[in-house]
Formats: sequence, C-alpha cells, structure tokens
Amino acid sequence: MKHTLPILILLLSFNLNAQQTFKRTLKLMGSRFDITVVAQNQEKADASINLAIAEITRIEKLISSWDANSQTSAINKNAGIKAVAVDVELFDLITRAISISKLTDGAFDISYASMDKIWKFDGSMTQMPDAATITASVDRVGFNKIQLDASSHTVFLPDTGMKIGFGAIGKGYAADKAKALLISKGVSAGIINASGDMNTWGKQPDGSTWKVAITNPMNKNKVFALLPLINSAVVTSGNYEKFVSFNDTRYSHIIDPRTGYPASGIISATVFAPKAELADALATSVFVMGIEVGLNRINQLPNIECIIIDDTGKIYKSDHIEIKDHD
Ligand code: ADP
Ligand code: MG
Repeated sequence: MKHTLPILILLLSFNLNAQQTFKRTLKLMGSRFDITVVAQNQEKADASINLAIAEITRIEKLISSWDANSQTSAINKNAGIKAVAVDVELFDLITRAISISKLTDGAFDISYASMDKIWKFDGSMTQMPDAATITASVDRVGFNKIQLDASSHTVFLPDTGMKIGFGAIGKGYAADKAKALLISKGVSAGIINASGDMNTWGKQPDGSTWKVAITNPMNKNKVFALLPLINSAVVTSGNYEKFVSFNDTRYSHIIDPRTGYPASGIISATVFAPKAELADALATSVFVMGIEVGLNRINQLPNIECIIIDDTGKIYKSDHIEIKDHD
C-alpha cells in the first residue's frame, strides 16, 4: 500500500508529458486550413498553431492578387509601365514558378492570370466561344515575357494588362513555409492541410506514419487507397463541380494557358512530392497536360508520383506508386 501513491504520481506525470495531436481549422488564403501539431499540451499546441497562422498570413499579404496592397498587386498594376522591386522571397518564388513552366512546357504559367475571362463555369454559358476569341484570350499570357532582374530583385510584366497569380502554387508554398517554421521551433510532428493539400512531418504520437485517403471523385464515399505520407506532401487538383459541357466534352475550370481552351479528360490529378509547392503546381500542370503527357512528365521526375482519374472514373498512376485495393 505504501508504494501506491508514488507510483500513481509517476503515472500521472508520465501522462502529462505524453504527446497528443491538436488540430485547429480556420480560413486562410480564402481556403479552409486544418493545422495539426503533436504537442505535450494544449498551451504548447496553441502557441505552435498561432505561429503557423502568422506565417501563412504573412505569405498571403505578399502573394495575394486580391489584396491591392500586396507586392504581387504592385507588379500587376505596373504591367507595361515599369519594373517593381520586390522582396527576395517573392522574387525567388517567381523564379521557381518560371522553372516549373519550363518543366511543363508552359502548362503551368503564373501569367495565366492575364487571360480574358471568356469561360464561365456557373451554368450561364450556352455556347462555346469562337476559335478566334479563344486564341486571342491568351495573347497577354506567357511566362517567357516576365522580366526578372536578379541584382535589383525587380519584376517587369511588359504588356499592358498582363498579370501574374499564385492560385496554383501559393497554398503549397505557404504550407511548406509553415511546416519549416514549426520544425525550426522544435515541433516534432504535424500536418498542414490546405483544403486537401496535405503536408506532413514526423509521426503520430503512437509512432505510426501519417496516412492520406485517396477517393475517387466519381464515388466519393469509397476510399480506394490509403497511402503513407512521410515528411512529404500530396496535392489534388480538380473541382468536380466546376465544369461546362459542349458536344459531349466536359471542360474543366482549369484553362490551358497556351491555347485558351479549358483542360478536358481528367477530373482529378493527385501529385506526391517532397514539397507542397511543387506538388501543388504539378497537380494543376498534369490537369492541363492531360493523361499521357502528364504521366510521362511525372515519370521522369525523381521522388514525384501521381494518380489521375479520368472523366469516366478510370484510374491511372505513375510508374513507382503502388496502390493496394482498400475497402
Ligand atoms: P484548387 O486550388 O482550386 O483546387 P489548383 O491548385 O489546380 O486548384 O489551382 C487552380 C488555380 O490555379 C486556378 O484557380 C487559378 O488561380 C490558377 N491556375 C489555373 N490554371 C493555371 C495554370 N495553367 N498555371 C498556373 N496557375 C493556374
Ligand atoms: Mg495546384
């Protein structure tokens, strides 16, 4: 009997030090974010989650095209007028975005934002725009036109009305930065989930790896794969609700910036990569490149995998990904 109390206290203190997962959901960058951290207690978890939120908010201020005061808006407002000096961070992000454009032959292009908005995906379109209008809609688009000066960190968009936008890379970049910050602050494990764009590090408190469920959008209730995500990211592109149909072809809301035609054939593209930024950009790119070219390109990149679902529900995967049937 004498020993019961010390043992009890020992057990209690052991429990207090046990790692648990804490999650907070909130809206950032116009999207739903779920931030999960592994921590000893609520107080420590809250402090870490607050750091992540501050970091994502900081990035949003830099890259948002909606925020008239962002450096990105300053670049856009000065298109055809003058070069704009920006933070090294934004300059580097634009430089990497242009590298991804080269890697995807322009399927990915931050200057997509210069397109005339001739397609509507809200059910209001009754006929396809004519070919000349479609071709003209991408006149101002072209990553090759963006002028960067590495010594002064200036960005110049030469054509009046030219714009850049980070809609297909920003959430991934913000997730990478939030993750890196938390790791630097000693947070042992967590997940930054930006509307389904998942970025993990460390392990769950019970020692198991984080896993992601992949669903087929044609049958949302059935998970067809549960895949481990070890210190890496997975991003799915595809909005099954947003599309328009003409002559039995379903056109998605992602438009090929080279042609002005919406991508068709794919309803969802999921890309696994070490970093969320690249996964995010490539998921959009695969959508634009289509099944054959998309798979081909992904298969040539080390440590990158993808799963594509076409508009008949058929599943395709890159060479080095293994999916076991899951019920
Ligand atoms: P979401 O985040 O909406 O699920 P994506 O990550 O695929 O989907 O990003 C789509 C967004 O990317 C679009 O809303 C637009 O802002 C931007 N975008 C669309 N097409 C391209 C493109 N070809 N290259 C770069 N960005 C694009
Ligand atoms: Mg994307």
